[in-house]
Amino acid sequence: MENCLFCRIAAGEIESNKVYEDERVLAIHDINPVAPVHILLIPKEHISSLHEVDESHTELMGYIQVIAARLARELGLEGFRVVNNSGATAGQSVFHIHYHLLGGRDFRWPPG
Ligand code: AMP
Ligand code: ZN
Repeated sequence: MENCLFCRIAAGEIESNKVYEDERVLAIHDINPVAPVHILLIPKEHISSLHEVDESHTELMGYIQVIAARLARELGLEGFRVVNNSGATAGQSVFHIHYHLLGGRDFRWPPG
């Protein structure tokens, strides 16, 4: 996707603060962190949002959770939250699917 921010970051066209990368997934520090740890887990494949996900993405979506768990362990996070905002009304602002890995502070429920 030509004008997609996360596709461009994944392609190395826009700089990011990388935490982890492999052939399928990129993890970067969020540019506007809302917690001491705020990492974005981004599949390299362009998928607009969770609305678009189907059975063909099962392995990839599971893999992202494996990476989230691994990073949380490596960072020694006692508690952490993995969040996906799907659709503008849910707070999605970048329309390339991603999960927020948040940690390092207490979180409330329900979220705002
Ligand atoms: P969402 O609102 O769920 O779509 O999340 C998008 C996230 O991307 C927000 O938390 C932004 O702070 C973050 N973000 C936007 N631009 C960049 C960027 N260039 N590098 C890293 N994070 C970004
Ligand atoms: Zn994209």
